[in-house]
Amino acid sequence: MIFSYPKYYEDFRCIADKCEDSCCQEWEVDVDDEAAAFYQNLPGELGDRLRQVMKRIDGGVRLPIENGRCPMWRQDGLCEIQFQEGHDALCHTCRTFPRLTHEYEGFTERDLELSCPEAARMIFTGDDRLVMGEPLPETRDEILEILLQSRCVAMDLLKDSTYSLPQKLIILLVYAHHVQSWIDGGEKAVLTPEDALQLAANIQQQGQICPILEFYQALEILTQRWKDRLEMITEPVWDDRLVRFMTYGIRRYWLQAVSDWDLLCRVKFLIGGCILLAHLGGDLVATAQLWSKEIENDPDNVERLLDGAYTSPAFTDLNLISLLKA
Ligand code: SF4
Repeated sequence: MIFSYPKYYEDFRCIADKCEDSCCQEWEVDVDDEAAAFYQNLPGELGDRLRQVMKRIDGGVRLPIENGRCPMWRQDGLCEIQFQEGHDALCHTCRTFPRLTHEYEGFTERDLELSCPEAARMIFTGDDRLVMGEPLPETRDEILEILLQSRCVAMDLLKDSTYSLPQKLIILLVYAHHVQSWIDGGEKAVLTPEDALQLAANIQQQGQICPILEFYQALEILTQRWKDRLEMITEPVWDDRLVRFMTYGIRRYWLQAVSDWDLLCRVKFLIGGCILLAHLGGDLVATAQLWSKEIENDPDNVERLLDGAYTSPAFTDLNLISLLKA
């Protein structure tokens, strides 16, 4: 049952040969079992080529990159498998990317992945009003109920023009603490903007971006471009479009806390990402797309950042709040 998706989801079209950072670039594609079996038995030159390039790695089948790209990529930017055998012959990853499906108890949400440049443009500039499908079923997990209710509050906060972006992030961080305590059995969380801003004003010091930068530099890095970008730190630019980044992130990660009851680390992960993007400057959409490609598409990197929310001095409440002094 589909509950919701942003309007831009249905407007998305892959721009294929016009894509400046094709999904075939720099990624090793995981080939699902069904597609791997199909390729193993495919006759002709295409089948021979596929059998030659497919490799079994870590228990799964992959198409390792050759000269920086998927070996099935053609000079004209198209995919050889799709060109010869059609869309249905693609493996699951290539057939669905950049469409995201999140399954929760009794309902499904859809969105696009920020790591695709065309999807990134839509996430930042497309029509992001939610298209609502069927109403949610009545019986729901108690934690999921808390997360659904609190996510509405967080989304409303992002839309509220009373506050600047850094202020919204401070209020959101404090609210995430309240929601975490609600999840852990405490009282229902209440959004307390003025208290949160007063608290921040009382404790703010000189924020340190370097620990965040160093944390990111120590993660797995896929592209030289990202390595270079991490060396181009500037004074923060609080571009209003970063609200779109946070909206995308909250839609994508907030409800995932139902799996381990840990919302706070996900909110810190997003706020830390937002602060980093503000300090990297440049073309925001392109930088956010690259962030997503490097971080969101690498589960180990996401895991390390979620852990770092509790263990690294980069992501302490004090440092995040101090970096949001604007
Ligand atoms: S990254 Fe997106 S737009 Fe580019 S080729 Fe892949 S799906 Fe198409």
